[in-house]
Amino acid sequence: MQFADRLNNVETSAIRELFKLLGKPGIISFAGGFPDPAMFDVEGLKEASANALTEEPGPALQYGATEGYQPLRDQLSTYMATKGATVAANELIVTTGSQQALDLLGKTMISPGDKVIVEGPTFLATIQCFRLYGAELISAPIDAHGVKTDELEKLIAEHKPKFVYLIPTFGNPSGAMLSLERRKKVLELAVKYNTLIVEDDPYGDLYFHAAPPPSILSLSKDVPGSRDLIAYCGSLSKVLSPGLRVGWMIAQPELLAKATMCKQFSDAHTSTFAQATASQYLKLGRLPAQLAIVRKVYAERAAAMAEALRRELGDAIEFTEPEGGLFFWARLTGAGGKVKDAGEFAKRAIEQGVAFVPGAPFYAADADVATLRLSFATADVGKILEGVGRLGKAI
Ligand code: PMP
Repeated sequence: MQFADRLNNVETSAIRELFKLLGKPGIISFAGGFPDPAMFDVEGLKEASANALTEEPGPALQYGATEGYQPLRDQLSTYMATKGATVAANELIVTTGSQQALDLLGKTMISPGDKVIVEGPTFLATIQCFRLYGAELISAPIDAHGVKTDELEKLIAEHKPKFVYLIPTFGNPSGAMLSLERRKKVLELAVKYNTLIVEDDPYGDLYFHAAPPPSILSLSKDVPGSRDLIAYCGSLSKVLSPGLRVGWMIAQPELLAKATMCKQFSDAHTSTFAQATASQYLKLGRLPAQLAIVRKVYAERAAAMAEALRRELGDAIEFTEPEGGLFFWARLTGAGGKVKDAGEFAKRAIEQGVAFVPGAPFYAADADVATLRLSFATADVGKILEGVGRLGKAI
């Protein structure tokens, strides 16, 4: 087959290949990026979907508007307000997961050869998606407080990117949280260089103790001229259910209109049944209580993982304990002659019956092969202790 040239720059994800090994019986997996299915509010979703079919069977099962099902757009506008962002319902469109919002941004903004700045490391599917549109990706370094804004400024000035893509709150894979000071700096850079900033925020509600700083979008009200330079992607995947495929995108009117046009050719609209169910779910008012449970469970698991990693791997590994999200981002130090290559460590770990993802594929450039991502979301505390014990044997 002669496939389109645009596929030349994109490989199948290394992570998908690794997932094939996870079928081995007894494997404890820290490899996934999924929420724990035991946390799904099945009762609430049963009620919400039944209400959707009873109260609004026509719209819930019919074709719908590309922009999204209006009651859900209204609910999402309210939801954003609870997070400190004033967003009118017509300033957002519903997307099929936030993944589609990212794809639509790629489709509307990237011409082959355009430069896009991403964090190093960043979400793998975004790297693949932007490359599919021909982007040349520039990698901006991060630390535990998110992207280093001084370095980011240099890169923006040098490369004049089409946009900058950031996951400021509990990033995948970094787990990092961009500090308030740096969030403000990002907004100043957006204005100074007239650069679009894409804020991807699927994890912001999954904080363990204190709420994170407001989103970059929320803070834009304090920086004149910045609001139109922020495109925000939200998602119900990590707080309610990824299978619903409900996300949303907020952007200035012209960009939103172009993205809506592209969405029309892509899937016409996000499943009306999923949207009506999500809308009914939000109307039930169960999300805050549900989130409180999820936060508590993930906080316990993260704490257990941190303690076990310190105990079992000692100075062979370094990491910053995340304050929310689903991930630990760690680095092998090689101390005491221990393994330093995370790919090699992953193979040894699988032999011991535990899986994680090596960090290298998450870099658009200059991969650090000593890094790895561990998810604590789907294993209970007992499994976490057992799994990290196995990592201790593999190192
Ligand atoms: N952005 C990031 C950073 C993610 O980690 C994910 C899912 N793992 C997505 C976007 C896409 O999520 P969804 O399409 O389910 O909303």
